[in-house]
Amino acid sequence: MFEMEFFRPLSTGFLSLASDRLIDYLHQTENGLPVTTLLPPEGLRRAYTEGGIPLGLEDDQNAEAPEKLLEAMRLTLQYSTCTSHPLFFNQLYGGPEPAGIAGEWLTVVANTNCHTFEVAPVFTLVETEVLAKLARVIGGPYSDAHDGLFVPGGSIANIYGMHLARNRADPEVKRRGAVGGPHLVAFTSEQAHYSYLKAVALTGLGSDNLIGVACDDSGAMCPAALQEAIMAVKGEGKTPFFVGATAGTTVTGAFDPLEPLAEVCREHGLWLHVDAAWGGAALLSRKLRHHMAGCEQADSLCWNPHKLLGMPLQCSVFLTRHAAILKQTNASGAAYLFQPDKLNAEYDLGDKTIQCGRRPDAFKLWLAWKAYGDAGLERWVDRSAELAEAFARKIEGSKGAFQLVMQEAPFNVCFWWVPPQLRPFRPDQASAADKALLSKVAPAIKEAMQHKGDAMIGFQPLRDAPNFFRIVFAGAKLLKDCCLDDLLHQMDDYGQHLFPAQCNLDAGEI
Ligand SMILES: *Cc1c(COP(=O)(O)O)cnc(C)c1O
Repeated sequence: MFEMEFFRPLSTGFLSLASDRLIDYLHQTENGLPVTTLLPPEGLRRAYTEGGIPLGLEDDQNAEAPEKLLEAMRLTLQYSTCTSHPLFFNQLYGGPEPAGIAGEWLTVVANTNCHTFEVAPVFTLVETEVLAKLARVIGGPYSDAHDGLFVPGGSIANIYGMHLARNRADPEVKRRGAVGGPHLVAFTSEQAHYSYLKAVALTGLGSDNLIGVACDDSGAMCPAALQEAIMAVKGEGKTPFFVGATAGTTVTGAFDPLEPLAEVCREHGLWLHVDAAWGGAALLSRKLRHHMAGCEQADSLCWNPHKLLGMPLQCSVFLTRHAAILKQTNASGAAYLFQPDKLNAEYDLGDKTIQCGRRPDAFKLWLAWKAYGDAGLERWVDRSAELAEAFARKIEGSKGAFQLVMQEAPFNVCFWWVPPQLRPFRPDQASAADKALLSKVAPAIKEAMQHKGDAMIGFQPLRDAPNFFRIVFAGAKLLKDCCLDDLLHQMDDYGQHLFPAQCNLDAGEI
């Protein structure tokens, strides 16, 4: 006989209290919660210790009372960055959307794995349906044949793309390993996501065999430069096999010209993967989908609905038009899991993946798609582009206080706040000292906003452009046009205060 009372789980009453707190928090995010409540690591530890539930797990850790757990939840939300705040612009995601949250919570409660149909019958069908819908949205050959998966993030999706391409170019590699095959070389643009570097490291290709192709001023890959790079590699006796194009680069939001790139890939027999982690949402908009023109010719592509579409992290799609290739490449036929003689075995998705267990991430997108319909999702995407457009016009109308770094892309606006003595700022004519001064501005304004908790915006340098802000409107649902005016006023105030007109690097304590 085993003892019934050996372990008493928390009751579902605790869950009711906990979920009330979570919903309260979501209400508060709409009513003036700061973006950040900044504490240094030691301050965070102190807050939990004072709250009676220290962060450390002791060697003789006690069972804490439910009230303590609720307090820990409260502190965790209080000190976590509030990505649902309308002025959170630090990354390419923002506050999650309610249908997505409900879908996410459901999958947590159902707690199952999308590897076999028998443990995830509905999620398996839902994933298949969402992928089929997306394939039809892409169109072209994808309408006739496709395969795909929800994967843990765009980086992993890019790795999938390269991995499939590599197995097509060198079918023996799965058995033989990296040594002794053709000398494969991959191409991405200089502005491509850093996950390609991880992909070449993981697949054993090596970073020497990843060529960064030149971009135009907007940050989009030049097809002529790709053609040249391929010819140079062929001239060295190596084997080009993969081009990783980007639809919506992470910093400037540039879309590589997919049709000419597909043409080059066809000519040389290369696999074209389109990293549309950020820009793929354009497909849902009649106004914007021309940016993705040619994506249907790609061998594979990825898209992150957890970015521009407000799905909770993570929600990432990998799609290919080669129907059987995922299984060919990745199957290992685990006899204990994918028994061919069990019920509905042919529906199992698991052996297509490089994982074992996998979250049912398709479900939240399915629920949101049902909630808003094609038209609602299109509105969401269009709104992000409209806000970017409106923001860029405000920058242009700011009498030189703010300045666009480049012509804005549909979803991204890159801009400086320029200290008065540097206006108008011309990167090609600026002295090293001017650039050094401007490079201090974005970090200083950002830090001031973090301390105050009023907004959060990312910055970075790019080529000869010193640190500049990048704004995107991923969590656009709460944002009103007037919030953007307030934001610019705040930034201007911080700028004037931190960089008064006469300040320069020699004189100023910045
Ligand atoms: C965000 C992003 C990725 C990485 O996606 P994760 O889901 O964070 O792994 C890849 N490519 C581009 C262009 C991105 O913007």
